[in-house]
Amino acid sequence: MMPQEEIDFIPHTPSVLKQIFIRRGITPNKRFGQNFLIDQNILLSIPDIAGLTENDIVLEIGTGTGGLTRLLAARSRQVFTIEIDRKLFELSSDILKLYNNVIPINADILETKHELNPRITSLILNWLREHKQAAIKVVSNLPYNISTPVVINLLESDLPIDVMALMLQQEITERMTALPSTREYGILSVIIQLFSDVEIVKTLPPEVFWPRPEVHSAIVKISIRKEKYIGRITDYPFFKKVINAIFTSRRKTLVNSLGSFSVPGITREHLKQILKEMQLDERIRGEVLNLDQLISLSESIGKLKKHLS
Ligand code: SAM
Repeated sequence: MMPQEEIDFIPHTPSVLKQIFIRRGITPNKRFGQNFLIDQNILLSIPDIAGLTENDIVLEIGTGTGGLTRLLAARSRQVFTIEIDRKLFELSSDILKLYNNVIPINADILETKHELNPRITSLILNWLREHKQAAIKVVSNLPYNISTPVVINLLESDLPIDVMALMLQQEITERMTALPSTREYGILSVIIQLFSDVEIVKTLPPEVFWPRPEVHSAIVKISIRKEKYIGRITDYPFFKKVINAIFTSRRKTLVNSLGSFSVPGITREHLKQILKEMQLDERIRGEVLNLDQLISLSESIGKLKKHLS
């Protein structure tokens, strides 16, 4: 257990964090993206960005030293907070013992690059069921090295998320909000925009973290809108295969990039015919297509595939 004076010491400054870390033999670990938010004004603004109310259930990924967790606990009904690093989990658990609405979990949020840790999702889904709650918010200063798979897996999971307020590497937030025909537009833009409305709320310089990261960061608000596009996709894994083929060879024409993605029986002539029906030039590149067009394209190829099989 931590002495009360040590708990009172936090909100953190780099010097306080350094003292606590030395005492506990902790060194910030780059591999786990351990850059702690030390700007109190920004910390305080995050629950507002997420629109937290006292009825909200929150999932935080990356408890760290618990600085954000404590604010989330004070502004919501229940917080689930996940930390992979055992020493940081022990440190933050000591601090968070003072809050009866926080469940700290020492685990990796990811089972694999393509799947959230099922023990965590089951725990949250069971809790929501038992407490008759229909939605959660995700609020996190995400470890940058795993932010893309975490966000995609959260969107594709069964968790009933309505809003995410996330601190991410700025470059990733620009890819999330990118429009067709731009350099940043790619698989991440398509998937995020398929599931949600996404907005960059503010950008953050490296100085607001300790240790300072090498990159700029930004806070995004992701408001889930599954009704917008997802219902129109018959076979989501197939849609993902189509966009993967398009964006992994984005400089090729659509017909060439989809030619390498071999759907048995589908020829270049079929693809040209589909593009013609969509009133698109056969030399078009996939990176210029908006979400509606990508869905129509994948639905047409899917129908033809079914017809030919
Ligand atoms: N929430 C704290 C803050 O705002 O200062 C810490 C944020 S820090 C950017 C990211 C945290 O995520 C670190 O504490 C790191 O150990 C933890 N982390 C890294 N990879 C993780 C994973 N796969 N699962 C759970 N936590 C992870």
